[in-house]
Amino acid sequence: MEAHKGVWVFLEARNGALRDVSVQLIGEARRIADKRGTDLTGILPGWKVEPLARHAIECGCDRVILVEDARLEFYTSRPYTKVLATLRWRHNPEVILFGASKNGRDLGGRLHAAIDTGLAADCVRFDVTEEGFLDMIRPAFGGKSLAHIHCEKHRPQMASARWNVFPMPRRDPARSGEVVRETVPLEDADFDTKIVDFKPTESRETRKIDDARVLVSGGFGLGDPKNFVLLDELATLLGGAVSSSRKPVDLGWVPKALQVGQTGKTVRPDLYIAVGISGAVQHLAGMQESAKIVAVNSDPKAAIFEIADYGIVGDLFQVLPEMIRQLKAFRAQAQAAPPPEAAPPGRRDGA
Ligand SMILES: Cc1cc2nc3c(=O)[nH]c(=O)nc-3n(C[C@H](O)[C@H](O)[C@H](O)COP(=O)(O)OP(=O)(O)OC[C@H]3O[C@@H](n4cnc5c(N)ncnc54)[C@H](O)[C@@H]3O)c2cc1C
Repeated sequence: MEAHKGVWVFLEARNGALRDVSVQLIGEARRIADKRGTDLTGILPGWKVEPLARHAIECGCDRVILVEDARLEFYTSRPYTKVLATLRWRHNPEVILFGASKNGRDLGGRLHAAIDTGLAADCVRFDVTEEGFLDMIRPAFGGKSLAHIHCEKHRPQMASARWNVFPMPRRDPARSGEVVRETVPLEDADFDTKIVDFKPTESRETRKIDDARVLVSGGFGLGDPKNFVLLDELATLLGGAVSSSRKPVDLGWVPKALQVGQTGKTVRPDLYIAVGISGAVQHLAGMQESAKIVAVNSDPKAAIFEIADYGIVGDLFQVLPEMIRQLKAFRAQAQAAPPPEAAPPGRRDGA
């Protein structure tokens, strides 16, 4: 056990950038590494990804191990597992963390079996115990309690963490670190999946909710899928996206990609407007870290009001059209205002 040293974080690249969940995890992994008094290493397989190693160092990594191969340009299960497993036996890290993206979940799940250790999936917090074990904390019993998972007999200790449960670390261009190139022997037989083409699935309906700064989220209170157009309109006016609680997803009103909560996505927007959502604990698990929460609900006793910064008790079919009307009026007024240079003397803001 003592031979295992250092914290690793798997860095997932996509379209020439590190995925947000990887960057968020660097910040948290840095904290764990400091608590353990050890180094933080990013593991970056891919192709032409060296600039991303620099990004990871600026966000907190001491070192990035780069494994470049044209065949690693896109994530596939077996080759990436082989890369990670080979590096694990070469370097003996004590902790490996993964972002719980689809690929991160796949890799963590396959790797832990390949290297004979455990994996705590979908963690929402980490700590280090007095004995020095990684305390991997995840929701249990439908989100009603938190389980603390320790991997005491195997190394490395492995966990995945969900999107947006940790904030983005500050990027410091002055930070220095080491980029180490390593090779892992990969044979054609390792590549049992061939990527033929990518087709984007994003549309207005499935616009990514993970990185939206404003989310207008609808629940069962909307009563009918066609009423989601109200949310679309409000979200568009606010430059945001539409999300949902689980009930509309289970009823087939909206796609699963829009679901916020314990079994959906974790989001952290600047503004979360919950419309016709009661505030079940499983929903709160996915949105309570939002910077500002506004709730619209006809039931003054709805649990969502307990965590809302602003609560509007009322019928959403009256409240939402009024919000939309006022926003449009505000927009029109702002557009009609004279430009800053035409403002009266003494006013410099042009308001
Ligand atoms: C293991 C497990 C995992 C789960 N995971 C998730 C998850 O990831 N995400 C999630 O959201 N849920 C999840 N759930 C389900 C969760 O427990 C709730 O059932 C669900 O969140 C309720 O959705 P809702 O708030 O839209 O509906 P409801 O609880 O039915 O609430 C509807 C709300 O709309 C209000 N309303 C009705 N009409 C109007 C109106 N005209 N104007 C204004 N307000 C109105 C009502 O007052 C009510 O508060 C999970 C459950 C389990 C057991």
